[in-house]
Amino acid sequence: MLRRFLSVRAAAPALLVRYTSTDVFLNRHIGPTRKETAEMLKTVGKESLAELMTSALPSDILRTPLNTFKSLSETETLSFLKSVGGQNKVLKNMIGQGYYECIVPPVILRNVLENPMWYTPYTPYQAEISQGRLESLLNFQTMVADITKMDISNASLLDEATAAAECMYLSLNHHRHKRMKFFVAQDVFAASIEMIRTRALPQGVEVLVGDVANADLADPQLSGVFVQTSCANGGLHDYTDFFARAKASGVVCCAAVDLLASCIVKPAGEMGADVVVGSAQRFGTPLGYGGPHAAFMAMTEDFKRLSPGRIVGISKDSAGDPAIRMALQTREQHIKRERATSNICTAQALLANMNAFFGIYHGPEGLKQLANEIHCKAKLFAVGMESLGFTPLNNTYFDTVSFAFEGGAFTAEDYAQRCIEKGINVFVNPKTKHVSVSFDEATTEDHISTLLQAAGMTTPNIEALTRVADTIVVVPESLQRTSKFMQGNVFNSHKSELELMRYIQRLQRKDYGLTHGMIPLGSCTMKLNPAAAMRALSWPEFNALHPYAPDDQARGYNAMILDLKQKLCDITGMAACSIQPNSGAQGEYCGLRVIRAYHESRGEGHRNVCLIPMSAHGTNPASAVLAGLKVVTVKCLDNGSVDLADMEAKCKKHEKELACLMITYPSTYGLYDRDIRKITSMVHEHGGQCYIDGANLNALVGYTGPGFIGGDVCHMNLHKTFSIPHGGGGPGVGPITVRQHLAPFLPNSVYGASVGGSQPFGQVSQAAYGSASITTISYALITMLGSRGLKTCTEYAVLNANYLKKRLEEHYTICFLGHSDFCAHEFILDVRPFKRTAHIEAEDVAKRLMDYGFHAPTLAFPVVGTLMIEPTESESKRELDRLADALISIRREIAAVERGDQPKDNNVLTNAPHTAKCVTGDEWNRPYSRQLAAYPTHHQYREKFWPSVGRIDSTYGDRNLMCSCLPLEFYN
Ligand SMILES: *Cc1c(COP(=O)(O)O)cnc(C)c1O
Repeated sequence: MLRRFLSVRAAAPALLVRYTSTDVFLNRHIGPTRKETAEMLKTVGKESLAELMTSALPSDILRTPLNTFKSLSETETLSFLKSVGGQNKVLKNMIGQGYYECIVPPVILRNVLENPMWYTPYTPYQAEISQGRLESLLNFQTMVADITKMDISNASLLDEATAAAECMYLSLNHHRHKRMKFFVAQDVFAASIEMIRTRALPQGVEVLVGDVANADLADPQLSGVFVQTSCANGGLHDYTDFFARAKASGVVCCAAVDLLASCIVKPAGEMGADVVVGSAQRFGTPLGYGGPHAAFMAMTEDFKRLSPGRIVGISKDSAGDPAIRMALQTREQHIKRERATSNICTAQALLANMNAFFGIYHGPEGLKQLANEIHCKAKLFAVGMESLGFTPLNNTYFDTVSFAFEGGAFTAEDYAQRCIEKGINVFVNPKTKHVSVSFDEATTEDHISTLLQAAGMTTPNIEALTRVADTIVVVPESLQRTSKFMQGNVFNSHKSELELMRYIQRLQRKDYGLTHGMIPLGSCTMKLNPAAAMRALSWPEFNALHPYAPDDQARGYNAMILDLKQKLCDITGMAACSIQPNSGAQGEYCGLRVIRAYHESRGEGHRNVCLIPMSAHGTNPASAVLAGLKVVTVKCLDNGSVDLADMEAKCKKHEKELACLMITYPSTYGLYDRDIRKITSMVHEHGGQCYIDGANLNALVGYTGPGFIGGDVCHMNLHKTFSIPHGGGGPGVGPITVRQHLAPFLPNSVYGASVGGSQPFGQVSQAAYGSASITTISYALITMLGSRGLKTCTEYAVLNANYLKKRLEEHYTICFLGHSDFCAHEFILDVRPFKRTAHIEAEDVAKRLMDYGFHAPTLAFPVVGTLMIEPTESESKRELDRLADALISIRREIAAVERGDQPKDNNVLTNAPHTAKCVTGDEWNRPYSRQLAAYPTHHQYREKFWPSVGRIDSTYGDRNLMCSCLPLEFYN
């Protein structure tokens, strides 16, 4: 048995016994063994981990110790989580309002959601080793565009209400901020209205909520309209005429739709919508107490360049074969900064992939059948209720029927309570007191009988009711869908489980995940996603709760989230927490809104300048703009630290209107800026607040934290530091923590759990707890690590990075750091000089690493022409050495070009990556061997990972934008 250990600091014998236990999670989480730790410390020239930390960290930012809590083993953690989950009550949920029960096909649950090949990869920036999920995301886009009858769809947004808010912003941008009103139909989901309102406020947009009949479409100030075709109480609308009139005045027409309804009801595209949004949740993703779920935005050609989030498109590779990659906005935020169209970085890729496979499994005919069955169940119930004298409020519907219960024998609340007693949740609108019942794939005859019994029917005769239901029509003929959709091969050829399993496997084989080797992406913290921590996700106790279920059914969630929040507050050195934001970027936006609300509460609402250092992540300026702030960039010095003189000058210059500083710590250059306390004090002195981007928290936990360096608010990326897998581009959780004076302004939620401060600025996610179900992952991780283990992770994150730096610094220049300097958890390799000496660019090195069996480090961010490496604490010495060896070998390959032994425009680097097709081709006329191309070191003989396509031509793809999968038939 491998005996591992965790602390090199001579631990007390009692501790040693504990740490050698085979069931201690930390021993499995940390890569280096005890012996390797000693070797690595020697390499970096330190005696102990503690000494390394003291050398790396400035002494004036060290924190008081974390509140002590002991670690539990994996087994203990699982039974603890079971008991927490046991406090949640799982009822049959027919609440609807954007969340519906569905059946996750086991073949998708096991092969996608529970499969590390799908959940461990990063966003597909390195497209040549991501063709599997890119093809799947293309399927998602095609499916959504087909069902909604739009030209193009993006590859997921965070949730439906966020997508609704993006519609407002898109309309505003379309009219270049010249039209400042936006109309929203009053029967749209309440969370969508709230999110639109919240997002509109800092933009100065006036949101008009009302009856579409009274909308003033000729108002020259009106930028767009937002309606919902199957509205909150279930009624169906045909907006064809309304859209035609709106368009006549140049108004952008946006519609929220139900994807399943659209399979049998006239799709919004056929009504003339410009932009269509919605959630794909009921296509096979669990309720999860609110998330994560994939939302979408589909649009006509005219609007594609304003689309937020990601669009996947087809281009071609170096051999001229079709190849898929993210189109238009690859890293666009880093280039456009405050001019970016959106702040979305992490989206919902994993969920979108599940939805796409659900669509493929059922195919167009299966989806229509599902929709029809759901529709029949709703009719059956409505007929039963009519026979009891309760007439539905909506005479058209797909799956949702509403009742008033006015003047009857019992009230709406009585009815809902009776249903709960019989095990079913229905929705009671808190304003109108109307009851809505939504039917779904998982609703049975028994459920319908129960609902009718709760209304007073003693023995429902389902057969008789069905006969009546069959005779009524509640989708008028003009609203029935006649057009075909999803006719492509991929949606019609994987009907058997065996076929679908093989298709899923065929795609995953093309993708590089943590399953293959390290993903040393700087700033992304691609650490272990522990299997034990993933378990609770698949338990109904956590994934079958509706976000609007009564509070007393979510006691387990409430207790867990409360404890998680307290731990995150302690870790960051803050006082209050919101876990609502469902990505890091949404956390940024949320934190900045909190700061604005604070200034406003003090009569200083005019403070609108946000200082952001040059080195910031691209989402920072984009989020600042969404929060209505004016971005002022602060310079960095050649050594990477913030230019204090420039900082001071900008503070002075903007003293009157300074809202805040937004800074990442340690900086995205991998440096603990020694002047951080000076910087934050300077901002406070000039009346500003300090926002700390905590995405790099992996270098801080247990040693310092945003609250110990002068921060007032920070966000964390639970999908980085706290082990939620990245899912190939989402989901994520981006909670914020704040100091006490900002706590009153934390976001609330129209429905669901009561959250937020006393003066909330609004809402940032559709559900009160955002992507609630995946917080179980971070909670499990923290529970398994304990307070001491959290700190150990930081020590190893810093050791691993410094060890790699040491191994590489003889061969490459490390940006900003000399030989005797220590980096934090990441560092930047400078490859810019090779452009001059050998015509070799950072991209060539990144692609060549694929031939060696690696995912490239972060490319071109934060410094153009460089590679940023972050190994995390989870990587073993063997893997670190493998990466170092590969990079050193690549340096020799560059030297061969520098010497002129290899031509500058035709060498192993410029031609990388090499596919199997390329090296086994009959023709070979390159100035290097096939062996060198594909098997540069002996390691590849044992474990070769083949890129499935050659270098992709992105420019070609952007010029010939193709974002649906018909031309790809050849793959299927
Ligand atoms: C990853 C990251 C973000 C954005 O987080 P998302 O969850 O992708 O939105 C912001 N800032 C920094 C420094 C990051 O590394």
